[in-house]
Amino acid sequence: MSIERSLVLVKPDGFRRGLSGEVLRRIESKGYLLVDLAVLTPTREQLAAHYVEHQGKSFYEGLVEFMCSGRVTAAVIEGQDCIAGFRSLAGATDPTKAAPGTIRGDLGRDWGGEVQQNVVHGSDSPKSAAREIAIWFPHL
Ligand code: UDP
Ligand code: MG
Repeated sequence: MSIERSLVLVKPDGFRRGLSGEVLRRIESKGYLLVDLAVLTPTREQLAAHYVEHQGKSFYEGLVEFMCSGRVTAAVIEGQDCIAGFRSLAGATDPTKAAPGTIRGDLGRDWGGEVQQNVVHGSDSPKSAAREIAIWFPHL
C-alpha cells in the first residue's frame, strides 16, 4: 500500500449529461484528494497517447471519435491505493454489467453505439497513472 495518484476523466457523455459534479462528489466522499482539475476538449494527439495500449483494436477509432466529441473533466486524485480504489468506484467497463452502487452502474447505460459510453476513465496501474498524468497535467 502506498499513497498514489490516479488520472480520472469524466468522459464527454458524462460531461454532456452534467455528471462531473456527481463523479467528483463520489471521489471526495470516498476520501480521495483532488490534486488538480481541468475542463478541456481532448485533441486526437492526447487521445492517441492516452489510449496507446488500444491502438489497432476494433473499437479504437470509435473510441477516439467519442472521446474528442466534446469536453471532459480531467482530475488527478490522490490517496492510499487510489488507483484500485477508483477502479472499484467506477465499476466494470460495460455499463450494463457494472454493479449498482458504482459510477458506471448507477450513471451509465448502453446507448446503442459501437463504443461503450461509460462516463469515466480511471488509470489501471501506477505505470499507466504516471504516463496519463503527464499527458493531461504536464505541469504536475
Ligand atoms: N471500449 C469499448 N469496447 C470494448 C472495450 C472498450 O467501447 O470492447 C471502450 C470503453 O469506453 C472503455 C475504453 O474503450 O472504457 C477503454 O477500454 P479499457 O479496456 O481500457 O476499459 P476501462 O479501463 O476504461 O475499464
Ligand atoms: Mg483502461
